Amino acid sequence: MTSTDDSPGADDTGRVIREPVSAPLADGREILFYSAGDEPPVPGVDHRDLPAAPRDSPTRIRRDPQTRDWVMIAPTRQERTYKPPRKMCPLCPDPTGRSSEVPAEDYDVVVFENRFPSLSTAHAGTGFTLPEPVDELLVEAPGYGRCEVVCFTSDHDGAFSRLSPERARMMVDVWSQRTDDLLSRDGVEEVFCFENRGEEIGVTLTHPHGQIYAYPFRTHRTTTMTEAAREHRSRTGTDLFETILATEVADGRRVLRRTEYTTAFVPFAARWPAEVHIYPNRHVRRLAELTDAEADDLALTYLDVLRAYDDLYGKPLPYIASWHQYRPDADEGHLHAELFSIRRSADKLKYLAGSESGRDAFVTDKTPEDVAADLRKVLR
Ligand SMILES: [Zn+2]
Repeated sequence: MTSTDDSPGADDTGRVIREPVSAPLADGREILFYSAGDEPPVPGVDHRDLPAAPRDSPTRIRRDPQTRDWVMIAPTRQERTYKPPRKMCPLCPDPTGRSSEVPAEDYDVVVFENRFPSLSTAHAGTGFTLPEPVDELLVEAPGYGRCEVVCFTSDHDGAFSRLSPERARMMVDVWSQRTDDLLSRDGVEEVFCFENRGEEIGVTLTHPHGQIYAYPFRTHRTTTMTEAAREHRSRTGTDLFETILATEVADGRRVLRRTEYTTAFVPFAARWPAEVHIYPNRHVRRLAELTDAEADDLALTYLDVLRAYDDLYGKPLPYIASWHQYRPDADEGHLHAELFSIRRSADKLKYLAGSESGRDAFVTDKTPEDVAADLRKVLR
């Protein structure tokens, strides 16, 4: 078990990002405990009889020769825990260390390696590099990387939208710490913090939680956005994301909330129901670069949007909340969150049909301006 004292973030923001206490799970995976107070967290011992986590990555990645997108092939995920009864919830704290992933009396925030990962750490520290596909058509590599589960409350019936502002702000720090830790590891190209909420989205555990993927490759969406930003810069000499933000603010019709530090808006060409993007006003690449005031305000705005989601149809809205962060040395990119739902009305879900699934060409049945007007009505 290791613990380190508070250490300042990598960037000179004056913000202190606290390090977690690390402990081993019964099969060798790592769990990280984060404390909301000044007392260090006290992990318990995991007494479960689990087979050791495999040393070699059980998953593979293959590159689609048509699109150059990487696909993760993870057959062992078929065995993952599916909608367990409440008393067997693997995310509730378990002081006996016999029935849950979190051996502890209680916890504030914990992060642990996914037991059924799409990518795993077997090659950590061994100088893994992604094969450079040049001429080879069929490129395959070990599924190197790391998949983490993030429990932002020990309350089984809680929700991110009902977290206190202090806990939401703590989550900004946890995501910051995880992102920088994972980005510093050999072979990790991109870190993706996200939350899927709602059975409609395919969530298999009801206890509120998020996930983090550390990919060994650049994802399709990041690649596309980076290329668009490069093209924009070479044509106009300006930053694409700063221009988007300034344009949305000047237009105003889709803006939901704008403060000194943060702007939330429905994007001009929203693809999904209730799609909202949240940008810090200052140009930064990732969460660790925010100042304290910016991180506080971003957390509040994020909570406001999630609470508006809950009020939109008078029942919890299934959503995906995804953070876009970029490496410190990335030539393009602006930290932002993209949130969206698959519920398109009080009683209808949006299914990805032929045009969306077959061509990635989205059709929406509501204008982004109307979506923004509806969300503004329920924004507190
Ligand atoms: Zn639970």
